[in-house]
Amino acid sequence: MVVTRFAPSPNGSLHLGHAFSAITAHDLAREAVGRGEGGRFLLRIEDIDGPRSRPELADEFRRDLEWLGLEWEDVPAQSSRIASYDAATARLLDEGMLFPCTCTRAEIAAMQPRVGQDGAIYPGTCKGRLLDPEKPAALRLDMDRAMARVGEIAWSDALAGAQIADPREFGDVVLVRKDAPASYHLAATLDDAADGVTLVTRGRDLFHATHIHRVLQALLGLPVPQWHHHELLLDPDGQKLAKRRNSPSLADRRAAGEDGRLLAEQLRLRRFPDDISLSRPTSEAS
Ligand code: GLU
Ligand code: ZN
Repeated sequence: MVVTRFAPSPNGSLHLGHAFSAITAHDLAREAVGRGEGGRFLLRIEDIDGPRSRPELADEFRRDLEWLGLEWEDVPAQSSRIASYDAATARLLDEGMLFPCTCTRAEIAAMQPRVGQDGAIYPGTCKGRLLDPEKPAALRLDMDRAMARVGEIAWSDALAGAQIADPREFGDVVLVRKDAPASYHLAATLDDAADGVTLVTRGRDLFHATHIHRVLQALLGLPVPQWHHHELLLDPDGQKLAKRRNSPSLADRRAAGEDGRLLAEQLRLRRFPDDISLSRPTSEAS
């Protein structure tokens, strides 16, 4: 059984890049059905992004997917899963894998840290500090400790092949934010396991984040899926398509009377409107 998912964050309307991502995940599940293996395609709303999150967009997303001619199963939104994030956090705290950090972005920048995959690599200033319930703090993963515990672990991407988990370029990542019940890394990893996802399908921009997710799976004893990090849609200037740039949203296209199923067929054929192109396939995503 192949279980894929599309996991949008409701902090803006979906664009063509999301359509491409949803279609890719949908079709991978449908192809498995065709092979007689069975397949499911899930929709999960990742709505714990604090004030940026606009839950009312979830309905718009569903109308977009329907318009594209996709069929999916809804699974619970992240906002209803806080207890599972808290339980995992408690376990990692217990095991000494997390430490509280009260540093602000500006303070970290002032420490002139090395810059890695995801921006500044946290220089470890708060490591070893104890939790002070009076002070709002983020919880960071002690990456050296985590790596010492899990050792060398592998994961596999359908396009890029076998990988060894190497999250060092992220440093001591935040797993619980000051303003949210879990970071994307923790929440998505727990949810994919809870939802029985066997093939995590998403854009190549999240390829490196998978190193972190693989380590979290090992720490928390979660099942290990396969990954499929697909190519990204690029603007005419070669930048990743983003909500703020000026290709119309799916909702705009829908409202303008465009045929969503036809658009989906075009995207499957790698034919893109608005001078959009696809990132070059590489064996190693970067
Ligand atoms: N919620 C994430 C986003 O919209 C996607 C996370 C994922 O697919 O793992 O960028
Ligand atoms: Zn700190």
